Amino acid sequence: IDSSVLQDMDKFEASFKDIKDRFRLINRIGEGTFSTVYKAEDLLYEAYENDWDIEEKENAKWMTPPLKKRRTEGQEQDDYGRRRRRPRYVAIKKIYVTSSPARILNELELLNALKGCDSVCPLITAFRNTDQVVAVLPYFRHTDFRNYFRDMTVPDMQIYFRSLFTALAAVHAKGILHRDIKPTNFLYEPEKQRGVLVDFGLAEKEFTDSKPCLCTESSAERRRRVQSSIAAAMGPSSGYPRNDSRPSRRANRAGTRGFRAPEVLFKCTEQTTKIDIWSAGVILLTILSRRFPFFNSADDVEAMIEIATIFGVRRMKACAYLHGACFETSIPTIGQAGFSLEKIILWSTCRNDGGKAGGPEIPLTEEEKLAVSFLERCFDLDPRRRISAEEALQHPFLKVKGE
Ligand code: ADP
Ligand code: MG
Repeated sequence: IDSSVLQDMDKFEASFKDIKDRFRLINRIGEGTFSTVYKAEDLLYEAYENDWDIEEKENAKWMTPPLKKRRTEGQEQDDYGRRRRRPRYVAIKKIYVTSSPARILNELELLNALKGCDSVCPLITAFRNTDQVVAVLPYFRHTDFRNYFRDMTVPDMQIYFRSLFTALAAVHAKGILHRDIKPTNFLYEPEKQRGVLVDFGLAEKEFTDSKPCLCTESSAERRRRVQSSIAAAMGPSSGYPRNDSRPSRRANRAGTRGFRAPEVLFKCTEQTTKIDIWSAGVILLTILSRRFPFFNSADDVEAMIEIATIFGVRRMKACAYLHGACFETSIPTIGQAGFSLEKIILWSTCRNDGGKAGGPEIPLTEEEKLAVSFLERCFDLDPRRRISAEEALQHPFLKVKGE
């Protein structure tokens, strides 16, 4: 281990009273935007094979550290002859003290609400010492996405996304949006073919604190509104107004560059769980195109240009109208119709001859076409028509055969 990491762990132990009594820090495993995560051994864990229900009860009393006996070294069985399990490893998430208390509470409360959900990382407990809050989670062994995504076959993708969409279905069923779906927040182990969703630091309950957005009106209402509006009658004016008196729009745009859904970019104020489906689609496009990161924009305007290049001006305009916005561009590389996802994937993987005569050299296989048909459902620009996690699990791409 790097000496600077050792120093950091020493500092953490020193700053956090009594933490050494319960945890043995092993390594630093993550340094995110909002936290540092350490791998540790839980020394107070009574690691017997049939004590899951005890653990469950402990979990229910989150924020209260369980009062358990320290594990004695070398003891293989307890007084009742129950066999010891392996030591329990945990991930200790040290949330940066600059995060607001409301935000930290939100993360812990949502994690607590999601307890027991399939493929979602459970919260074991949480502690606070002065301004420092730590969350304790079971440790999940996983492989860095960059080390396996290029080698994934379509069946591998099906297993990966079945796991991810199982987690999303559970989270969405509780009316929670994750808001930051991306490979580093889905800990996947290709060998075990299992993944867990982590990082609810940006998650929120659906429709909190929002003004209604136009995209939730019915299509009849929309037709009436658009027909009666002067802007629609005259068409969008060219250029940007010199003195723009329109009120500015504010919407939650939290998330990661390249994974934001179009409605987030258009500042829709009533964002739904469908924003997570879009982000999951970006992961699938990354794997199919063998390019990471696939979208590489510096800001929201660039992100819109990237999306528009694929989907075309026509569909972007329709999408903007859903949210009461306009989409205009004079960039020559953005065409009216855009490109099919199939084309994009063939180009990205250099499987057609640079668009020269003769068409694609190695066309998509039937199973790849199935993956693309699923991807198209994740990338519906209209969030209301976009596939839900529950529906996704029934899509031929994810549905387990024989079920
Ligand atoms: P942040 O909000 O800082 O992004 P995360 O919860 O995403 O925090 O954690 C950051 C990183 O720490 C993750 O990408 C992952 O590599 C590692 N990590 C987080 N939780 C666990 C866990 N339960 N088991 C193993 N590693 C974890
Ligand atoms: Mg994260």
